[in-house]
Amino acid sequence: MSRLLESYAAGRWYAASAEGHPLLDAATGEEVARISSAGLDLGEMVHHARTVGGPAIRELTFHERALLLKDLATHLTGLKDELYELSLATGATRRDSAIDIDGGFGTVFSYSSKGRRELPNDTVVCDGDLEQLGRTGVFLGQHVYTSRPGVAVQVNAFNFPVWGMLEKLAPAFIAGLPSIVKPASQTAYLTELVVRRIVESGILPEGSLQLLSGSAGDLLDHLTVQDSVAFTGSAHTAGILRQHPSVLHGGVQLQVEADSLNCSVLGPDVAAGDPEWDLFVKGVVTEMTAKAGQKCTAIRRVIVPAALADEVTEAIAARLASTVVGHPGDESTRMGPLASLGQRDEVRKAVEALRSSCDVVVEEHDVDGSGRGAFMSPVLLRARTGAVEPHDVEPFGPVSTVMSYDTLDEAVTLAARGKGSLVGSVVTHDPAVARRLVLGLAPWHGRILVLDRDDAPESTGHGSPLPMLVHGGPGRAGGGEELGGVRGVLHHMQRSAIQASPDMLTAITGRWTRGSQRTATPEHPFRHSLATLRIGDTIASEPRVISLEDIDHFADFTGDTFYAHTDPEAAAANPLFGGIVAHGYLIVSMAAGLFVDPAPGPVLANFGVDHLRFLTPVKAGDSIRVTLTVKQITPRSSADYGEVRWDALVVNGDDEPVATYDVLTLVAKHDNQQA
Ligand code: NDP
Repeated sequence: MSRLLESYAAGRWYAASAEGHPLLDAATGEEVARISSAGLDLGEMVHHARTVGGPAIRELTFHERALLLKDLATHLTGLKDELYELSLATGATRRDSAIDIDGGFGTVFSYSSKGRRELPNDTVVCDGDLEQLGRTGVFLGQHVYTSRPGVAVQVNAFNFPVWGMLEKLAPAFIAGLPSIVKPASQTAYLTELVVRRIVESGILPEGSLQLLSGSAGDLLDHLTVQDSVAFTGSAHTAGILRQHPSVLHGGVQLQVEADSLNCSVLGPDVAAGDPEWDLFVKGVVTEMTAKAGQKCTAIRRVIVPAALADEVTEAIAARLASTVVGHPGDESTRMGPLASLGQRDEVRKAVEALRSSCDVVVEEHDVDGSGRGAFMSPVLLRARTGAVEPHDVEPFGPVSTVMSYDTLDEAVTLAARGKGSLVGSVVTHDPAVARRLVLGLAPWHGRILVLDRDDAPESTGHGSPLPMLVHGGPGRAGGGEELGGVRGVLHHMQRSAIQASPDMLTAITGRWTRGSQRTATPEHPFRHSLATLRIGDTIASEPRVISLEDIDHFADFTGDTFYAHTDPEAAAANPLFGGIVAHGYLIVSMAAGLFVDPAPGPVLANFGVDHLRFLTPVKAGDSIRVTLTVKQITPRSSADYGEVRWDALVVNGDDEPVATYDVLTLVAKHDNQQA
């Protein structure tokens, strides 16, 4: 008998108290493993996540969490061969495994990088600008995101046993949430191997990742208001989860990614022989055959201009004819089997349903004499006028239906009949067609690929969700949203509006808030490394008068002779200035001259300004002075320096704000690291 998969629960590996259900190799039908969660204490898992995993993650800053993810992805990359080997049993060819395994690692690397670049080295995230709520500025509002003291339950589909787990785990981990992963039983042996290697590595804090092998049992009964469930799978199971009392009445957040009848639309501008023609045909065939069409993003509906429908159908059929279906380990194989005989039965049933309103152009043919593997050759259909089924029935395998349109509006209507999809492609080289189709399709899709000869060389294709772009879709697709870079992290966090004084907001957010206390240090703050620099440290400059000669000189020197700086008459007629004014960049340059401390020291470089606004014009003879205050300190974990964001406020002689901006510098971590 094969091995019984184990669950990793409350800090130990658990083997079920039952024989378990056999899991079969997709190609050979041999037993790979057995699975059961009988006897597993699911309440204890939730408790362990809440009391051990969550607190351990939330002791770390976003950057520390992100760095652990980088270590993890690096570690797993070294174990790839072992995972590829086992992945064969799922029916995945090498190319399919790359999508699942390398795609999963890439997602973790991407989250590690985004977490360090786009989140503060802290445990709270500010969202949006400060809102001044009173007249004088002592009462402010700031939105912040904080980590929930809950558990992220992740229920995954069978088709991506590695990527499916990692794309949900990475954002939840950065958000500070422990995960309980429940893979689909069919391919859980591969997920179990990855979790085993993660646990052995000791990289993630104990309790941050647990694995439930087998049925989810009463897991949701144990969840409460700070917990969430992210589900990928069938609309049927999604319906059951939506009805669960913990979701309906208990405040548990449910995020669903379900069926999707994705489409690819060919623009009417494209003719056979155009680069877009080949891109379109190739895209359809790739999506039908990659992972044997078992991708939630695969193209199920091929929407083409009526005049081209015959020709396109023939081109797709011709290309499909050369698709070699076989054992996923064979070099010549282009497409492996479906995940199981059960899945193949489901797909064949779906094809039968489609026949009622479609003609079959490419029929399934026999590929495996033994009948033990879940092989199925691609099937191409052509929808008859008014067909309903292709917009309703999801064949989760190598099956697509061609349908035709006469006008762009009709193309949009056909796409919308999918009732909400994860992704749509628009293949055209005509910008006007692209705009009409994209604006029509966008409300029905989570992602849209516009493909033409220009972006094709770098296109990642129709079917690949990317960690930096949102994944999910409206309506039938589940209505959920995952990934999307930092958005995917923030989905797991609670946004709250904080109303407080500037000093309180500085203390709460770890970011200096305008209006809160400044500390005039005895030494210029540029003399301080990160070891001694503090939020609120300030340099207030002396005033400097800006003369007409300064403005003339700046105009000559830079070549910026815009009339408002050089032509008194024209400047006088300007409704905003009423005379010659200083260049905004002259003010910013002079402000730098006023606040800078020139000698070599811990400040290594200025790498930009953010949020620069010129508020009051400066005329010749006006004076300016600048106050520079440390707003945010972000040490870089991978370098001997960090980023210091300074609040810069330039005022005129009447104390009116002339310019505001953030100055961004790189500062050494220690005093002896001067440049
Ligand atoms: P299911 O909805 O049956 O299973 C998805 C996940 O949900 C699995 O982990 C499954 O566990 C789990 N599950 C099943 N019932 C429950 C329950 N009552 N409570 C909690 N968890 C539950 O989908 P499948 O993966 O079996 O695929 C079936 C169909 O789903 C496909 O044919 C396709 O139409 C669609 N699908 C959509 C995908 C997408 O990304 N949009 C991806 C894959 C499939 P277990 O395996 O142990 O039953």
